Amino acid sequence: MNWKRQWKFIVVLIAGAVALICQFGLHTQSLFQIGKLHFPIETILIDIIGILMAFSLLSEIFQDWKTGRYGVDILAVIAVVSTILIGDEWAEWMILVMMTGGETLEDYATGQADKELRSLLSNSPTLANKLVNGKLVSVEVDDLKIGDHTIIKPGEQVPVDGKVVDGVSSFDQSSLTGESVPVSKQPGDLLMSGSINGSAAVEMEVTKEARDSEYQTIVALVKSSQAKPAKFVKMADRYAVPFTIISLVIGIAAWIHSGNPVNFAEVMVVASPCPLLISAPVALVSGMSSMSRHHIIVKSGPTLEKLANAKTFAFDKTGTLTENQLVIDQVVPAANSDLSQEKLQSYAASIEQQSNHIIANSLVKVTAKKLIKPSDDIKEITGEGVEGTVENHAVKVGKLSFVDPNNQITRVNATAVYISLDGKYAGYITFKDQVRPETAGTLARLRRQGAEHIMMLTGDHKDVADKIGQAVGVDDIRHDLLPAEKIAAIKNTPKENRPVVMVGDGVNDAPSLTAADVGIAMGAKGASAASESADAVIMVNDLSKVNDAVAISKHTMKVANVDVLTAISVVIIIELIAFTGVIPAFWGAIIQECVDMMSISLALLAKTKPKNPKQTGIIAEK
Ligand code: ADP
Ligand code: MG
Repeated sequence: MNWKRQWKFIVVLIAGAVALICQFGLHTQSLFQIGKLHFPIETILIDIIGILMAFSLLSEIFQDWKTGRYGVDILAVIAVVSTILIGDEWAEWMILVMMTGGETLEDYATGQADKELRSLLSNSPTLANKLVNGKLVSVEVDDLKIGDHTIIKPGEQVPVDGKVVDGVSSFDQSSLTGESVPVSKQPGDLLMSGSINGSAAVEMEVTKEARDSEYQTIVALVKSSQAKPAKFVKMADRYAVPFTIISLVIGIAAWIHSGNPVNFAEVMVVASPCPLLISAPVALVSGMSSMSRHHIIVKSGPTLEKLANAKTFAFDKTGTLTENQLVIDQVVPAANSDLSQEKLQSYAASIEQQSNHIIANSLVKVTAKKLIKPSDDIKEITGEGVEGTVENHAVKVGKLSFVDPNNQITRVNATAVYISLDGKYAGYITFKDQVRPETAGTLARLRRQGAEHIMMLTGDHKDVADKIGQAVGVDDIRHDLLPAEKIAAIKNTPKENRPVVMVGDGVNDAPSLTAADVGIAMGAKGASAASESADAVIMVNDLSKVNDAVAISKHTMKVANVDVLTAISVVIIIELIAFTGVIPAFWGAIIQECVDMMSISLALLAKTKPKNPKQTGIIAEK
């Protein structure tokens, strides 16, 4: 617990203890009297603190007003002031306990809500067994360098990303991929940091430093999400103003009806606004935690609110609707060129080595053995292609229009890259751009979940775009888009079709992810880039997680709404009872505290799965 944050609460508790001793232990006399009101030490003490707290709350309220927010905190101020005026210092103290204890309660509730997120952080690998001159030395993972050798003993975590050089074992990668079946790894295979070794020790060569490794990038992402608390909740604001007005009306009516200001104070005491302030954020944090259990990292609470109401879903094509690993189909050198197929592929792949584009990655991967070191002047033009020098030849790889601005070559009817050598067209490579097995199902389910428009935004040409778009059920296919046009397509989504969600990869599609109301990045690869552009990151290579994300958001918002409405209704009923004057202010404050507890417990329900997941469409049918 963070005691610094809780100092107000502690001051109130100590003041209460001192006042208790004064009143019942020392039986202190009244210091002075105004009208019928007596002011013994305990009353003065609590009143001073009450006034100070009321002022500090008022200044917060004014800050909020400046940013256009109308919270319910004003009721708490009125409650404190009215208990001072009717001279009920114990009821006043009880309200102060509630007000200042709210943060303590919030810390506790948030702690319950984000357990999964924290367990992810605490499971981060810290130590590694480095091989130094044949001996094992325990070192910090941050000190491992590329090329170091480490030993991973049975049951131990892989410290950083690396490659098996000796030994065979199976690795549990569930914390990264969600796949519970262990995967067998032998020399040459890649290991992801955070996976857990099975039964045999293996020797690994480090291929990535800690900060670039899989698990560590996920952790960095989660940390950045925790830095943005779920404070700003539109939904709660919507209820705030009517609730405040109703409470004031009941209070004033009680005063007029009974002719006694005490009745007004009694109503104000039960009207304290905690449920609205605490439960909605707690529900959102619970929802975020539930997302992380499903391998979806959400960066802030309001994302869930927008995702739950999303009307338009836009998808990138290559690597998002289609598999994120393309298979080469044909390598075709130009008719008048004396390049062999192998040389053409080798030149193209060599120049693509630094690109993050799915096409580049796939090409480099299958050409690994024939890569040539390119010059340092490689330039990537986003959404077009790459150019640079290999073996003293100027090579361009990319779209047809990029390689051949004069339109002399005819286009092939497939996902392809075109290559030119020293300004002359040299050939093309086509890819089997295969639709993911889960794509059609995911889009169909999105419609059932309330998506009204499904768009595909691609830089690829019309024929390929239409073929794939129609196969998976996209209703709005946009092809031949430059990166700026993808952004425009999202920005120009009319208001009635919003919120708009964009799903793509975190690197190449970063600008359009930022432009969308909710940007979802697929895949942990490039997680650090995604953490800046995306609002949510799907850590596993599974498009249907978009369905889960929408479902969890809907569930969370439902819990939050039901919770806040229930709490408000209960409070209004208690206010009506207090109207008659049968609830003394002190007991009113205690009843109010019970309502708070109830609504916070309800908010934690956002973590649970709903009863009929398939019927409600909440959790993906596996
Ligand atoms: P998409 O992801 O929908 O294919 P992009 O805007 O990422 O759209 O790319 C559009 C086209 O530009 C690709 O289909 C490809 O032909 C070309 N391109 C972009 N980047 C590269 C690259 N690094 N290497 C080769 N071609 C590229
Ligand atoms: Mg793309």
